[in-house]
Amino acid sequence: MEIQKRLSSCWQSFLACFKKPRRSAGDPVRQAARNPGPGDNAEPAAGGKSSAPAETAGDYYIALYDYSARTEEDLSFHAGDILEALDKSPGEWWFAQAASGLSASKQGYIPANYVAPVESINAEPWYFPETKRQDAEKMLLAGGNQHGAFLIRNCESQKGELSLSVVDSGRVKHYKLKKMDNGQYFVSKTRCFQTLKELVEHYSRQSDGLCVRLGEPCKKMEAPQTHGLSYNTVDQWEIDRNSIKLLRKLGAGQFGEVFEGIWNETTAVAVKTLKPGTMDPEDFLREAQIMKRLRHAKLIQLYAVCTMEEPIYIITELMKNGSLLEYLQKDNGKTLRISDQIEMAAQVASGMAFLELQNYIHRDLAARNVLVGENNICKIADFGLARVFMKENESVYEAKEGTKFPVKWTAPEAINDNKFSIKSDVWSFGILLYEIMTFGQMPYPAMSNYQVVQKIPQGYRMTCPPNCPKVMYDIMIDCWKEDEQDRPTFETLQWKLEDFFDMDVTSYDDASRY
Ligand code: AMP
Repeated sequence: MEIQKRLSSCWQSFLACFKKPRRSAGDPVRQAARNPGPGDNAEPAAGGKSSAPAETAGDYYIALYDYSARTEEDLSFHAGDILEALDKSPGEWWFAQAASGLSASKQGYIPANYVAPVESINAEPWYFPETKRQDAEKMLLAGGNQHGAFLIRNCESQKGELSLSVVDSGRVKHYKLKKMDNGQYFVSKTRCFQTLKELVEHYSRQSDGLCVRLGEPCKKMEAPQTHGLSYNTVDQWEIDRNSIKLLRKLGAGQFGEVFEGIWNETTAVAVKTLKPGTMDPEDFLREAQIMKRLRHAKLIQLYAVCTMEEPIYIITELMKNGSLLEYLQKDNGKTLRISDQIEMAAQVASGMAFLELQNYIHRDLAARNVLVGENNICKIADFGLARVFMKENESVYEAKEGTKFPVKWTAPEAINDNKFSIKSDVWSFGILLYEIMTFGQMPYPAMSNYQVVQKIPQGYRMTCPPNCPKVMYDIMIDCWKEDEQDRPTFETLQWKLEDFFDMDVTSYDDASRY
């Protein structure tokens, strides 16, 4: 579907075709709440002046993605449809009425992160604010985008600045968009624009010094994850076991089997079943409460649980390509370039930097606990579970040969003194880097767990894997510093890994030479 075209033309046709039924003062229907929602902190309309009728501004939203109703109370819509928010108080899910499109005049719940205020900059099809440079390249080079495809994003290296990324003959070039003190934007000082929209319009008509005339906005990839499965699983996330159908087994782990499933006959999910007796449901629920609050693009989202009977079900988002370990070891691993490997490592570091900020410890970071989706997207799984199991099942984690303790991934202070911290996670991250750079080889290949436990305190460290750039090996060695305080933070690891890609072009003139 041509999402972009529909997005840009939709508000205009909506204004022409749809007359808003005016709500009387005493309307008993849900009042149009005016508390701000996720998309409301947008800049003023990219066009500068809003042409939305004054009484509707703030209530009307444009859909950025398609959404298929998951429950009878949800509203289906297509990208480009106009929706009136009737009640934004539930937070991440709003009660809305479709003002255009196939569902016109129907009411129901919508995920708030799928819409943006009409005529706001967030509704512009070329505006991808939170997109990193490397993600912009990946998206622009993905199928469907042609010469001239472009997007505007926040610049990573300079806060508050914007970058324009554009496809030129199969390569992506990046320009800094500068802002003058009077608020005008420019790529080259010789031509300034009141708004980004005017800038885009100008360079869509002529290249005027850019490497290429701007063409179509970059195609939007996957829709974002919704907050929970539906509006009513956000707080009440113990769900009816009968609403889950198990479709096929995806794998088996230490604690049970994992299935692909479908919730409410509408929504694909992963279902982790826990072997009876593995843990106390109370303990698990306490931990799961925390896990549920930890939302980040690089962490697997916990959607819901079924704990009323055994086996306990843990319902999470489904990742198409399974675990990173399997992915690296299979054929697709062989097609990965070094830049892909580093980028995947950067994604894991980004998820861990978030956990670090939340003072949360993973305790079992390894390629087997990272899952891979489309386009090499990596997300960390099983954060927090290790702690629950550890309390209940201490012996499993004893540093003995032949037990299930992940000795080769665990920092020496954690093995010897049970001292787990974010810094022991950093150690494990170094081992995960080794797994990534060796396409899933077992760490310390010629050594037993016992030998590893003996030799690490004596200063032994793995050597640089074949074909691994020295800079990557240096990062591993930093992660394996004996004193945990000497190990880097995940924040540092994230920017170091991302820095391999971050070379935004500094000026218009430089860019045209690329
Ligand atoms: P685990 O019990 O977490 O070790 O999972 C066992 C296997 O199930 C993994 O190696 C993956 O192949 C698969 N798996 C686990 N969680 C998911 C998920 N959310 N999406 C897709 N596959 C998964």
